[in-house]
Amino acid sequence: MIDIVPGKPSRPGASRQGERRAQTPRPATIPSPIPVRPGASRPPPGRSATDPGPPPGRAGEAATRSDEPAAEGRRRSPSPAAAPAGDSHPPRAPAPSDLPIDERRLGVLRQVARDGGTLEPRWAPLLATGYSYFDIAEPGAVAALFDDLAYLADRDYLRREHFDRLVQCGRCASHHINVREVCGVCRSSNIEGSALLHHFRCGYVGAVERFETTQGGRVCPKCDGRLQFLGTDHEVVGETFECRTCGASFDEPDVEGVCLSCGQKAPGDSLSFTPVHSFSITSLGRSALRSGRLFDLENEQLTEGALPLYRRSVFLGMARDELRKQQRYGIAFSLLVLSLTPSDPDTAVREEHQFVALVRDTLRLVDQLGRYDERTVLVSLPATDAAGAQIVLDRLLALRPPGSGLTVDGTVVATAAPDQVEQAVMTALAQRGRQ
Ligand SMILES: [Zn+2]
Ligand SMILES: [Zn+2]
Ligand SMILES: [Zn+2]
Repeated sequence: MIDIVPGKPSRPGASRQGERRAQTPRPATIPSPIPVRPGASRPPPGRSATDPGPPPGRAGEAATRSDEPAAEGRRRSPSPAAAPAGDSHPPRAPAPSDLPIDERRLGVLRQVARDGGTLEPRWAPLLATGYSYFDIAEPGAVAALFDDLAYLADRDYLRREHFDRLVQCGRCASHHINVREVCGVCRSSNIEGSALLHHFRCGYVGAVERFETTQGGRVCPKCDGRLQFLGTDHEVVGETFECRTCGASFDEPDVEGVCLSCGQKAPGDSLSFTPVHSFSITSLGRSALRSGRLFDLENEQLTEGALPLYRRSVFLGMARDELRKQQRYGIAFSLLVLSLTPSDPDTAVREEHQFVALVRDTLRLVDQLGRYDERTVLVSLPATDAAGAQIVLDRLLALRPPGSGLTVDGTVVATAAPDQVEQAVMTALAQRGRQ
């Protein structure tokens, strides 16, 4: 399941972490398999290094931020003139690790592809982040890698998926938190739990210690009856706690986290968690690897390479907008999913491109095509009701590039609330026997 869906802005905790990372000084040498240029993730003016850019869900905004490719282009140049003004360091000769930022990001993509297409975090207790990816453990390189992964995921080269959540100190962001049960009265952790017994004959309920006798065996402190058989004359009804510090007894202790780095204490229900993601390479990511570059030029930011196919986050944002219009003004809108199964992995890309071109030619200009995942394409049909969508779907399913062994399957997605569009697509896919 996807935890943080593209289109939702990242959580406040995550951006706070990002700002801190941005302040981390980058050392000159980075022992990492991915070449990292020191200071390479220095933000362009008016944008922080980890700013994920436009929220992927807002296509309009993405389209208006046309200043970005220019900034990327400037940084792509290895010439000393590209050094930011005010940087007093003398120009350095480009070292092998002194790669332009796009090359570095492409390197990250390449490494994910080489590792089987998915990237899972590795716990790294000694790092401030608590985890890293690959074997990178040098803080500056980790910060740069996190920036690159965020960049690649926000632009659909990688897909972010939920991996875990990491508890973090609300004050110093350390993940070294000792979580334990404490006394609800005096907050001491010197508490002890014991079984709570119920004597059937007299109804007395008390901690097991109250039944203990010096001669051995258990005797009810209320009626002096001897407890013989569990389940026959008495039962365990739960647990009770006693504080060794203040003497209070209670049924449920409080949970509290104490930060091992700064000493901050926080009640269990107010501990903050940050999401930890795994990443998987997308069709756009693979396409970038094949082309040897990221498609971040101004005219490329919305679509998948040269295909008339909107990027996943862009398309889902547009679909959400259409669903909002449907909800508010009652304007019909339909969404189709098309699952493509290539006959041969070697010709899969070509078959898909041919099919997408055919679909594009068949649709109206107002209809849009978008990527969902490697084998799934979405079609938005404005001002089209479900019956009309079924007719379009049947027409699309009959299309086949000449000589292609591609199998195409599809369905009309059931109407969804704007923020439920991905779930609706997943449900539609599951009904087609996929996922
Ligand atoms: Zn702390
Ligand atoms: Zn206490
Ligand atoms: Zn009793």
